[in-house]
Amino acid sequence: MAGRQTLGIVKPDAVQKRNLGNIIAHLERDGWVVRAGRLVRLSRAEAEAFYEVHRGRPFYAELVEFMTSGPCFPMALEKDDAVKAFRTAIGATDPAEAAAGTIRKLFAESKGRNAVHGSDSDENAAREIGFFFTEAERAHLWG
Ligand code: ADP
Ligand code: MG
Repeated sequence: MAGRQTLGIVKPDAVQKRNLGNIIAHLERDGWVVRAGRLVRLSRAEAEAFYEVHRGRPFYAELVEFMTSGPCFPMALEKDDAVKAFRTAIGATDPAEAAAGTIRKLFAESKGRNAVHGSDSDENAAREIGFFFTEAERAHLWG
């Protein structure tokens, strides 16, 4: 069964342009619940570990550089069929190819500086939520 949570990150480009609130508002209007969220500045080691699956890809160094360039805002987001629904909400990796009304179409600059991250499977959503938020913390926030 598809899970109800995914990990979204408002990336440094969107935070810097002060689109954090606009993106969260867009998500809340679209029925999402922000279960956890925090402004963080990733270290190089953290960005490398988070994007470990992309190590060796041509864009990896640029991606790590970008993700450490300023604060970003990871969020545990909840909705039915969360991973798939969030991928639909954010649109294609390259904003030039993203559908109208998607977050990347609205807020992203380029394929690299593309405003948001979204998990690509339930397994990765669990790993990525755990990367930023503890179980105890998530329970405490809503308990
Ligand atoms: P997505 O974020 O849509 O799941 P990927 O997992 O393929 O996309 O890539 C992870 C991130 O790496 C992208 O969101 C983007 O920031 C960056 N990236 C991917 N491909 C490129 C590229 N060709 N050039 C620059 N950056 C890229
Ligand atoms: Mg991906």
